[in-house]
Amino acid sequence: ALKKLSKLKKTPTMTHDGTPITLMANIEFPDDCNAALENGASGIGLFRSEFLFMSKAGDMSRLPGEEEQFEAYKKAVVIMRGRPVTIRTLDIGADKPIGISDFSVLNPALGKRAIRFCLAEPELFLTQLRAILRASAFGPVKLLIPMLVHAFEIDQSLAMIEQAKSQLKAEKVKFDPNIPIGAMVEVPAAIFALSMFTRRLDFLSIGTNDLIQYSLAIDRVDPEVAHLYNPLHPAILTMLSTVIRAGAKAGLPVSICGELAGDPAMTRLLLGMGLREFSMHSTQLLTVKQEILNASLKELAPRVKRILSLGEPDAIERAVEKVRQLPA
Ligand code: PEP
Ligand code: MG
Repeated sequence: ALKKLSKLKKTPTMTHDGTPITLMANIEFPDDCNAALENGASGIGLFRSEFLFMSKAGDMSRLPGEEEQFEAYKKAVVIMRGRPVTIRTLDIGADKPIGISDFSVLNPALGKRAIRFCLAEPELFLTQLRAILRASAFGPVKLLIPMLVHAFEIDQSLAMIEQAKSQLKAEKVKFDPNIPIGAMVEVPAAIFALSMFTRRLDFLSIGTNDLIQYSLAIDRVDPEVAHLYNPLHPAILTMLSTVIRAGAKAGLPVSICGELAGDPAMTRLLLGMGLREFSMHSTQLLTVKQEILNASLKELAPRVKRILSLGEPDAIERAVEKVRQLPA
């Protein structure tokens, strides 16, 4: 099966009835871009920049500075040769600690993680923003911000990006002045206040790993509750569909970059909801592509609409499985 899949590498990704779909890769380090290309990724949908920091876990003085970060981001951009690279700003805390003492300890997943940490450490954040902007001079870069919930967090982030831009401009350092800026949609409250996001930003990326954790109140790293972690919970499906539709209405691209996007059992369901961009671990790209090539949107759309109205987990599971078995 692997051999057959590898034949799909250069096949354009589109549904059986001709709608183009974008398949991107999630990476942790710049070198992961090679596997992304080998598996036919059309870009990087999620560069988890915190891994550059986690590998140095320890004290603040050993964290990667602007030059080291710039070299890493630039390397990814250069390897991808003109394909977009979506760099997410630091998402540390909770399940991704970097060993410095300044995190919330009581309930780290609900504590000072990700953008909350960055806004509390403006120097560290500005350093990263400058490094990302500088990399954008070498190819298409998109800037993605994790864990946004409040309007003021979006506004402060945008203001810091402007500050980084004007510093670089004054220093005559090149960057893309129109770099697209997007939000991770991964806290349920964001979904019920989406206009706050669509008004201010250029794209949305749904982080289903955290979205499911926060919606179902299940610690994503706690094995005791892993069996309750169900992506097919009707509330989750409703939330995904809400974001996809709101994005389309506002004219903003929406992708999913959580593990859900790489699960071939979910591909047709997500296509039927209207999702057109997926980002996943490179090893999943060709399997998901095969699902897409055999899927007919015309058939899927009405079936998925019905699934969204079912409301009963067993019925949903059966219907999703049936949709998966549909011939092309
Ligand atoms: C997510 O939350 O779904 C996501 C893609 O980000 P991470 O897994 O890095 O938190
Ligand atoms: Mg997340």
